[in-house]
Parts: sequence; C-alpha cells; structure tokens
Amino acid sequence: MIVMKFGGTSVKDAKAMQEVLKIVKSSDEKKVVLLSACSGMTDKLVSLIKDAANKATEFPNKTIDEIENYHINLCCELYRNELFRNYSSVLIKRYCNELRKLADGVSRLKECSPRSLDRAASFGELLSTTIFHFLCLENTLKPILIDARKVIKTNSNFTSAKVLMKETKKNAFKIIGTELGITRQKEKLHFTQLNDNIENSIKNCEDWQQTIADEIKENNEKRTNLVITQGFIASDLFNKTTTLGRGGSDWSAAILGSCLNANEIQIYTDVDGILTSDPRIIKNSKLIEKISFDEVKELSFFGAKVVHPDTIFPALSKNIQVRILNTFNTNVEGTLIYSEQQNSQSDFKSIVLKKDCQYFALKFNSKTNINFYSNKFLDFFQRRGIKIYFHSYSVSMITFLIEKNNDIKVLSEQLPDKILIEIVDVNLIVLCGNDILNFDKEKYNIVFNKFLGNNKCRYIGFTKNSLIAAVLPDFSEDITKKIHKELFEN
Ligand code: ADP
Ligand code: ASP
Ligand code: MG
Repeated sequence: MIVMKFGGTSVKDAKAMQEVLKIVKSSDEKKVVLLSACSGMTDKLVSLIKDAANKATEFPNKTIDEIENYHINLCCELYRNELFRNYSSVLIKRYCNELRKLADGVSRLKECSPRSLDRAASFGELLSTTIFHFLCLENTLKPILIDARKVIKTNSNFTSAKVLMKETKKNAFKIIGTELGITRQKEKLHFTQLNDNIENSIKNCEDWQQTIADEIKENNEKRTNLVITQGFIASDLFNKTTTLGRGGSDWSAAILGSCLNANEIQIYTDVDGILTSDPRIIKNSKLIEKISFDEVKELSFFGAKVVHPDTIFPALSKNIQVRILNTFNTNVEGTLIYSEQQNSQSDFKSIVLKKDCQYFALKFNSKTNINFYSNKFLDFFQRRGIKIYFHSYSVSMITFLIEKNNDIKVLSEQLPDKILIEIVDVNLIVLCGNDILNFDKEKYNIVFNKFLGNNKCRYIGFTKNSLIAAVLPDFSEDITKKIHKELFEN
C-alpha cells in the first residue's frame, strides 16, 4: 500500500488534476491519495474570514462567489458527463453556503477565533477532494472518499493542532484499512497462522497459502484499491474541525502512512524533487537523488518549502521511505528520503536563503550571569512565537539568529547599560548537508574567503548538518548564487 499526497500546485486546475488522475490510474496497487486545496485557495479562505471579522461593512460575499465559481468551472472542464457536473455543482454550492454562514457569523461577532479560521480553511481541501473523487468515478476507478476529520484526531490547538496518534491509528485501520482490506486484526491473524503453520508439512503449507490467497482475492474483489482523503484537516475529540498548520498536508500523509504501515509515502509537487536550492532563486538548481531525514529536517527548518518538516517524524519512526516526485514530470525518479545515514560521506547537499532575520548579540563583562540572560531571551522568544534559527553563548557573549521582529528592541532598552547590544537585520545563507565539519577543507576556504569575507557576513554558526551564515540582506542573493555555482554547478 502506498500513500500519495498531491500538493496545491498539483490540483491547481483541470490540466493538473488530469495529470494526478493519470498517476493514480497507472498502477493497481492499493493507495491512499491525499489532496491539498487548489493552489492559493487556503490563503484566500483565511483572508476572507479575517476580513469578515475586521472590515465593518464589506461582507466577503464576492470572494466566496469567486471560490464557488472557480470550483464549478473546474468541474465543467473536467467531466464529460452532465450528471457528474450537476451533482458536483450541488455539493460545491452546499460547501460554499456553509462557508457563507460561517463568514456571516464571524462578521456579526466581529471576531474570528482560531476555530473559525480552521473551519474556513478546511473548505479548500473538502472542495478539491470532492472534485477529484468525481473525476476518478467518471474514469472507471472505484474510489472511496473519506473525510479526514473522521480519521485524524488532534488536540484542540486550532490552526496548528497536534495529532493524537493512538486515536488516529485506531480510526485509520477501522475506516481506511477496512476499505482497503488491511485491517489490524487481519495482519495479526495472518501472522499467528504463519507461526502455527511453520512446522507443518510443505503440502499443508501450500494449502494454507492457497486459502490465504483465495481469501485475499475474494476480499479484494469486494474492496476498492483507492481511498481519497484530505490533507491538512483533522478534528479534535469534540469533532470540531482542526488543521495541522500551513503546509500540513505532508504531515497528514506521513501520519496515515505510518498508521497504516505503508510501503512508501510519495509527495507529489511541481518540481523534480528536493533540489540543491530553491529553483525560484537559482534556476540551475540540481536534483538531489537521495537525502537523509536529518538533512531534510534541516532544510525545511530553514524554510525550503518543498516538504513540511513534521512529515519526517512519523515516517522515520516506522522506517518508511518518503519520495518527493514531480506530478508534471513522471519520468524522473525524484528524491528518496531515507531514515539513516546510508552513506557516511561528508557532503554539502543544498543551500537555502532565509530572508527577514535578525542577528541579535549581547556582550557582557565577566561578572554577569550569562545563563540568566540566555534563558530570559529564550523564554521571551518562545512566548512570542519568534522562531530561533541559531543560538550560542560563551563567557562574554550571547548570540541569537532569529526571525525579524520589533519586540526585541523594546526588551533590549530595558537591559542594564553595562550590557552592549547589537541588532542587525540579516538574511541567513544555510548550507545543509551531512557531517559537514569533516567536509573538504579546500571548499570551506573558498566559501569563507571568497564569499563570506569583506564584512558582508555578521556571524557564522555550525551544527552537524548545517553551516549558517548571517549575511547583510543586500548581498545575500548574490552570495547564495555564487556559492551554489561553486559547490553544485561544477
Ligand atoms: P505543493 O503545492 O506541492 O505543496 P510547495 O509550493 O509547498 O508545493 O513546495 C514546492 C516548492 O518548493 C517548489 O515549487 C519550489 O519553488 C520550492 N522549494 C524551495 N526550496 C526548494 C528546494 N530546495 N528544492 C525543491 N523545491 C524547493
Ligand atoms: N492547503 C494547506 C496550505 O496551503 C495545506 C497544504 O497545502 O499542505 O497550507
Ligand atoms: Mg507544500
């Protein structure tokens, strides 16, 4: 069984959805297909519901009409059959009416709670999966559409809910597993039978194998091999709609893959796989064929949007491989993400440019309690949800590389005069790789001397898997391109 996730770019229009259909149709293997909302739709839904609360008179009917028309047009382009067009339009209108009611409520209250935000955002995935379900039906597949909110259970931390794995696993087997014929009990039963039979004669064993084969065949004939569901959305224990945070469909895929013991999780997007850099910044970015979970975690932490960081964890724990593939170029084998360091060779794999950051340093005289200040600032950033990219301290200095914010200036003004403070706006250039401290020293020299010298760089930090340089914003894009050329284009 495989889990396939198609991102927003893969379902953005009729042409893209047809590509997804081709991929889904191309094998008989049992699959769970998760879809994101059509590209840009979640942004639209989130801002319309915020507008409903904030803008005194303008009720966002126009945007909802646009959303409704967009999806109805998609159906008209996709389906040959009038019946499919009509029936899907009814369902789309029903969802959009629910959205209108929600927006109306929010605009009357003049308040948009995180819970309303999640409910609004969920319509993107509900609409895209409804449309794709009909497309599969029209094309002779036997799909079952399952509402992800019945399967993935979370806490009530709306807009970035945490998954309750025990409940989710139970539901995944009960609801999706039953449809696909991969229930937990069955697995166990087969395993016990296997043990009981292990010492039987070859003949008995053959009979037993035949019985199992017949049973599986019979069940498969009755069952579907295609379950379609939504990425990103889930529900809490009170059955209220929650979401797993922006870009969370990858996480949904990893959760279901891990709960159902998938053979592989495939994340389909609009590029050939994980590349040596963001192709929107560096056109010459190259495909990385294999990369470890640790390296991908590093990449996504610094904002390489291609895959959601949390995707990694549930899959890693089960040793399930994840492959990143291109919906629009299926000839390429994509990037395989593996769980362990299969090759111990030290290497840089990719470069990320993270914009809008701050270098924040505190310099102390020797009598100061550095620990106290380090903890104070860590706590301050965490409470305000300010992302910390790197932190170090020595006997005389504390350094933070953080997401750009205004609060830090206010807090700094309250510090004693004897502490020297430096705050500089920077962009981070991050080289991600494997065991990079042992990397070819010649290349380090080039990176440091040729590109990071001349006071353009305010700080350099290392971890086992990354070199992080805080560079003045004006120079950062140019330096990123030059380092990429030096390390990856030769
Ligand atoms: P999806 O809609 O499939 O979820 P996303 O837009 O979330 O797609 O992620 C894919 C995008 O990630 C690519 O179009 C690419 O521009 C961007 N990206 C950023 N860094 C990288 C990288 N190192 N490798 C590949 N893609 C990257
Ligand atoms: N549709 C959601 C978003 O845009 C989830 C996802 O695409 O992964 O964030
Ligand atoms: Mg994405």
